[in-house]
Amino acid sequence: MFPFRFSKASDEQAALSAAASGARYVAGGTTLVDLMRETVERPEAVVDINALPYRDIDVQPGRLRVGSLVRMAEIAAHPGVREQFPMIKQALELSASAQLRNSASIGGNLLQRTRCLYFRDVTAACNRRTPGAGCAAIGGRNRTHAILGTSDSCAATHASDVAVALTALDATVIARDSNGESRIALSEFYLRPGTTPDRENTLRPGELITAVEVTVGPEARRSGYLKVRDRESYEFALTSAAVALDIAGGRIRTARVAVGGVGTVPWRLQSVERALAGQAPSAELWRTAAAIAADGAQPLSENGFKVELIKRTVERQLSTIGALP
Ligand code: SF4
Repeated sequence: MFPFRFSKASDEQAALSAAASGARYVAGGTTLVDLMRETVERPEAVVDINALPYRDIDVQPGRLRVGSLVRMAEIAAHPGVREQFPMIKQALELSASAQLRNSASIGGNLLQRTRCLYFRDVTAACNRRTPGAGCAAIGGRNRTHAILGTSDSCAATHASDVAVALTALDATVIARDSNGESRIALSEFYLRPGTTPDRENTLRPGELITAVEVTVGPEARRSGYLKVRDRESYEFALTSAAVALDIAGGRIRTARVAVGGVGTVPWRLQSVERALAGQAPSAELWRTAAAIAADGAQPLSENGFKVELIKRTVERQLSTIGALP
């Protein structure tokens, strides 16, 4: 490890002041400390924000607000989350390992960096780590990479599971800096790589995530998250699907569908949602709606299998959620 300055912020103002001087925020440390050990990130200063008062989980009917420092395991264990937002609970429980879920904050989870192996290898060319350096993955090992939202500069997959569920539920990120509070729709929070893959989200320098909010209708109760991966635990998604359905009078009133493991950002499938809305649930409907899940995909040399796999993942999850009582 290289030398860096470390401090603890006792309140929000101290944290913002430290960040204004160039410090990076750290809470659970499960992303940043890893990357510092590998010298992928080399901050000169780090400020511990664990003393800040962003620790509450507030569940109301159809509404959830989670402080950014709440640990993943705490959210997944909350009775209100388990009852009203099973999709969030499942996405959290299928993430990482129990030890990491006990340590990682929800704010840090949303900001985790990609698992692209070249990004984490400082000897490899990577535009996301070093702008203009090139991309070793596009002509290299890219089996786990994205097929949607890619560019000639980067095809790294977004790694968060819970961000997929939160994208399906139209979550809002609450952030703060010296200019005050910002509310950012999660659908606009993440940036596709384009020609600047090093810019991953819309946060301003020093801006601090304080909470995440979800406001949603009855479909959230009939929801779930399916994760397909090479092994059954402690592995990132090859594909995943977050599905929520409101079914009444034999028709689908509202459908929410987002997928992971295939996009450079958590990927909402509004075309699939439109295909489902107003229809009567059936095996044929699940199949035809899922058939458009990979429209626009641009596979690389090793990840063409994801085109079919994401369709099957969405179909299976629609069938599972559609059959819930
Ligand atoms: Fe870097 Fe993105 Fe290429 Fe991976 S896919 S090497 S993160 S530029």
